[in-house]
Amino acid sequence: MINFEYSRATDVADAVRQIAADPAAKFIAGGTNLIDLMKYDVERPMRLIDISHLPLKSVEETAGGGLRIGALVPNTDLAYHPLVEKRYPLLSSAVLAGASQQLRNMASTGGNLVQRTRCFYFYDVATPCNKRTPGSGCSAINGVNRINAILGTSESCIATHPSDMCVALAALEAKVHVAGAAGERIIAFADFHRLPGNTPQIDTNLKPTEIITAIELPAQGFATNYSYLKIRDRLSYAFALVSVAAALELADGRIKEARLALGGVAHKPWRDPEAEAGLRGQAADSNAFAKAAGILLRDAKGFAHNAFKIELARRAVVRTLTQAAKGTPQIQHSKKVR
Ligand SMILES: Cc1cc2nc3c(=O)[nH]c(=O)nc-3n(C[C@H](O)[C@H](O)[C@H](O)COP(=O)(O)OP(=O)(O)OC[C@H]3O[C@@H](n4cnc5c(N)ncnc54)[C@H](O)[C@@H]3O)c2cc1C
Ligand code: SF4
Repeated sequence: MINFEYSRATDVADAVRQIAADPAAKFIAGGTNLIDLMKYDVERPMRLIDISHLPLKSVEETAGGGLRIGALVPNTDLAYHPLVEKRYPLLSSAVLAGASQQLRNMASTGGNLVQRTRCFYFYDVATPCNKRTPGSGCSAINGVNRINAILGTSESCIATHPSDMCVALAALEAKVHVAGAAGERIIAFADFHRLPGNTPQIDTNLKPTEIITAIELPAQGFATNYSYLKIRDRLSYAFALVSVAAALELADGRIKEARLALGGVAHKPWRDPEAEAGLRGQAADSNAFAKAAGILLRDAKGFAHNAFKIELARRAVVRTLTQAAKGTPQIQHSKKVR
């Protein structure tokens, strides 16, 4: 491991001051991704700024009827928070589908958004990878690409974003509150993560000197008709091959509002406004769901080992929407263990 300096931020202003003075430094929260990346020699920050003691650990109701979730709320506390369980069970369900209980106890809400891809070659420093070393090439395009993307890929990178939480946050149209030397700003969730294009080394639109302070959920939580389905190689402690967050508002058997996001298929949670618009006003049945799935996957392109994901995702969308419409969500079996 390369030597590095360590300092602890005392408050958000201090964290912003410290990172502005040393933009090559990195914030560390739960450390569940960053420490692995440092051990694998993928990331080599010369300084870590520990933000884990900042007062960003509460979940509060907003004046607009939504929730403000502090960036340091651990994944476990978020999933089991009474207001989240009651009003945003889609988010609880997605969080509980991720990682393991021990990891969720450590992992922070902000860190989950900024975690890096699980592409095998990104972690293998003996191989070319444009995300790790820009301009070196992409080993996955002609390599073992079973876990890689089928949507929004580029000639530079076909990595996926590995988060479960983010798929639900995308469907719920959350907002990301950030602070930096230039002040505070709010980023719509759809604009937070980027597609790889020819700069796959840049995962998000968060500036290197900005800190995430909170995630804001709007009032509409879709608590009655929702489902999060995660399909993976093992039943736990594995990243999604394909995941689906579906949320519906129904009135007299018809769809009044629909949200649909895919995980495990792209560099960011994948949504398509046309798929959701096509569901509005329709009867909540398999015809409408299959049509939405077709629109969502219309530009999908498979590689040597992952073309199976296209049909898998189509079927997963129909199944998840069916569960959501029936009010019988996929349950992630997990009890709180601290
Ligand atoms: C074996 C394993 C399995 C996993 N499985 C899943 C899974 O199935 N689904 C899933 O969703 N996740 C999974 N995870 C990922 C895990 O959820 C993330 O590692 C975790 O959420 C990251 O949070 P952290 O607080 O530990 O981040 P850290 O490791 O501390 O930081 C990660 C990155 O985020 C940055 N960062 C952290 N907080 C902030 C902030 N407030 N503002 C700006 N930047 C910040 C850091 O600088 C760093 O670059 C898994 C992880 C492991 C190790
Ligand atoms: S897909 Fe992206 S992360 Fe994976 S090897 Fe190619 S450039 Fe690197």
